[in-house]
Amino acid sequence: MGCCNDNDSDLQLFAKQERIYPKRVSGLYRNLKWVAMIVCLAIYYGVPFIRWDRGDNAPDQAVLIDLERGRAYWFWIEIWPQEVYILTGILIFAAIALFFVTSLFGRVWCGYFCFQTVWTDLFVWVERIIQGDRNKRKKLREGPWTFEKIRKLTITHIIWLAIAWCTAGSFVLYFNDAPTLVKSFFMLDVSPTILGFVVGLTASTYLMAGFAREQVCTFMCPYARFQSAMFDKDTLIIGYDENRGEKRGKHKKGTTWDNRGHCIDCTACVQVCPVGIDIRNGLQMECIACGLCIDACNDIMKKVDLPKGLIRYDTERRFEDKVQNTETKFNIFRPRTYYYIFILVIVGGFMLTVLLNRSALDLTVLHDRNPLFVKLSNGEIRNGYEVKILNKTHEDNFYKLTYSGVENATLVVKGAGDISEDAIFVAADSVGHYRINLSAPIKPQNSLDITFTLTDKATNNSDTYESVFVTKR
Ligand code: SF4
Ligand code: SF4
Repeated sequence: MGCCNDNDSDLQLFAKQERIYPKRVSGLYRNLKWVAMIVCLAIYYGVPFIRWDRGDNAPDQAVLIDLERGRAYWFWIEIWPQEVYILTGILIFAAIALFFVTSLFGRVWCGYFCFQTVWTDLFVWVERIIQGDRNKRKKLREGPWTFEKIRKLTITHIIWLAIAWCTAGSFVLYFNDAPTLVKSFFMLDVSPTILGFVVGLTASTYLMAGFAREQVCTFMCPYARFQSAMFDKDTLIIGYDENRGEKRGKHKKGTTWDNRGHCIDCTACVQVCPVGIDIRNGLQMECIACGLCIDACNDIMKKVDLPKGLIRYDTERRFEDKVQNTETKFNIFRPRTYYYIFILVIVGGFMLTVLLNRSALDLTVLHDRNPLFVKLSNGEIRNGYEVKILNKTHEDNFYKLTYSGVENATLVVKGAGDISEDAIFVAADSVGHYRINLSAPIKPQNSLDITFTLTDKATNNSDTYESVFVTKR
């Protein structure tokens, strides 16, 4: 057994997280990231303000999750709580689509579209505008507290908080009428619940994009951990062409490139990396595939008059082939991608069928459990049922309820207002609850199967529900 020594108390089990100061870079992938960021932010902040006319009895916000009424609206699609399987299907479809894209293009979602990436990029951009590029930021952060440092940090944090506040505010707009809620914010008249959500989300956005940054991708995001299961040797990755780059070393202008690699060890690729890794060490879990190291290296290659692509998008197989001096083509269509396409078609087809055949009317008839039946003084047997009618249209409607399976029965509908089985009223976009009694002159026998049919009197659309008529225990 080892023995303790005097220095054991100083033993550090965890390395201190180094702060990363990504350097500004320009190029194709940086431009693509700007475009992705602007599009994502425009969609996120803009969508709650898009109006969609659904008539008088429904909200006119195109995308809305109305918790109070229990509805989710997405342009022409309206989902009721009873149809939550549609949301489940959409989530399954989105997850498989993500797996499919990942198997082809690697972590393109992480590098360009993930919320954490987009907002971190935005926060770093603000930081750079106020405090300067990498070296200036580092110097400012590590330098003594001066008036200038306090001024710059204060402005940065105020802008971060403002962005975080708008981000949180936009999130709650998806659950409320956007123009009304914005007005309420300006009038300082919002409910404590909404205010609580906005404050909480502001704090999390500020902390995640301002401080946690790459640590969210490395330590918190589960996708980073299991994405390797979607990778194979033909998935596009960002890699360093070791065969071409090594043996690396500083290079003086005008000297020969013979007997050395093309990497001039300038570390430009490391300085621009938002997660602070060196791609020359091989594919790493931290890499979010943003492509900024490609831009940085291409820029260097241009300066030293060498072809671009020392760091590039390519497949692991093609990188390995370089070492063998062979070349294979991109292999997009392979068993893995076929499986994903097959599953996408099945799930997508099912979802489309469900959405296209979605009924505006839904009938549920639940047989009373206690008593199962009642024997009336005139010898008839009566069964009771609870009826629930979903009127998913935006018009008030009258319905006719009929039945089949029991001869010569009498149907009595009980509920609010003046109703009969011929004119059951259900208000627009709501659920009607009724009780019905069905009595028939019938001898005790086995339970009879009975089918209830509800018909919309205006459109003749109908829905049916199978139940039973019980005559003996
Ligand atoms: S930017 Fe290119 S040349 Fe410079 S260190 Fe990275 S790989 Fe080498
Ligand atoms: S290694 Fe390159 S692609 Fe990966 S995160 Fe860093 S800059 Fe982006």
